[in-house]
Amino acid sequence: AKQNGGNNVKLYATKMNEQVMHRVELERYLRKALDKNECFLVYQPLLDLMSGKIIGSEALLRWKHPKIGLVSPLEFIPIAEEIGFIHDLGRWVLTEACMQTKKWHDLGFRSLIISVNVSASQFQHPTFFEDVQQALKQSQLPAHCLHLELTESSMLRNMYYSIHVMKKLQQLGVHVSIDDFGTGYSSLSYLKDLPINTLKIDRSFIYQLHKDRSDIAIVKSIITMGHGLRLKVVAEGVETAEQMKLLKRLKCHYAQGYAIFKPLLAEQFEQQVLQGSES
Ligand code: C2E
Ligand code: CA
Ligand code: CA
Ligand code: CA
Repeated sequence: AKQNGGNNVKLYATKMNEQVMHRVELERYLRKALDKNECFLVYQPLLDLMSGKIIGSEALLRWKHPKIGLVSPLEFIPIAEEIGFIHDLGRWVLTEACMQTKKWHDLGFRSLIISVNVSASQFQHPTFFEDVQQALKQSQLPAHCLHLELTESSMLRNMYYSIHVMKKLQQLGVHVSIDDFGTGYSSLSYLKDLPINTLKIDRSFIYQLHKDRSDIAIVKSIITMGHGLRLKVVAEGVETAEQMKLLKRLKCHYAQGYAIFKPLLAEQFEQQVLQGSES
């Protein structure tokens, strides 16, 4: 390794340079992505494990740049947060998701819910509550059909203020979910103070579920706790029929994952999910 030291340093520098270039370019492109209509939503169906029916979907943001191609939200959302673009982007997602779901209501599927991801700085922004109200007003979607997915860390960042906003949202009828549940570092004691409706068990506890005894124990405990706290429990990242059967046996309310449906374009959602199902 020693004799290659110089080469390695050079290689690394070039690579780093590429990453910086990519990053600067991404920032520049991202700011224009909305105006250029490069963003769209996909909808991942949410299954009620008891009734076997699809009750709605989670909206997932996509960005397709003409040259770079599809960029993962895991990559561009942190950038959008850093450059302060997340507010425009978040508002667009909220409005678009509510409008689309309202269209499906008008086709006769009136009970469909839509779950929208909210990033930490979007949630902490002073206009967030009004943004939600505005999206509901503009779309005419009933508030109880809108679920917002927040992470533990974004709720706890500014707990007093967060609780205030979450309570106002619930008074409006909007549901609040804890996303990626189980991956935060916080204690469970806050659960009794936070105004929430749903726990969404993180994918990392689900993907080995059928063969890992500790995952089963953890998931079982979360579901039991959810029932005790009168919360709905969702399992995300369900990839096999076996996992789904197990979750159903453990009395998990809802499930989402490739075993059920992948995220779908709006047209696909209509064709593959709505058509043929009763409204
Ligand atoms: P998330 O909220 O945990 O969303 C679930 C992710 O898992 C999605 O990735 C989804 O496509 C993927 N997934 C669904 N089912 C399965 C499965 O069975 N197996 C596996 N391996 N993966 C599955 P995606 O769409 O790439 O989104 C990644 C993350 O980006 C999301 O994680 C969420 O935190 C964030 N994100 C996506 N859309 C938005 C948005 O509109 N706003 C904000 N703030 N964040 C978003
Ligand atoms: Ca989510
Ligand atoms: Ca998430
Ligand atoms: Ca997750």
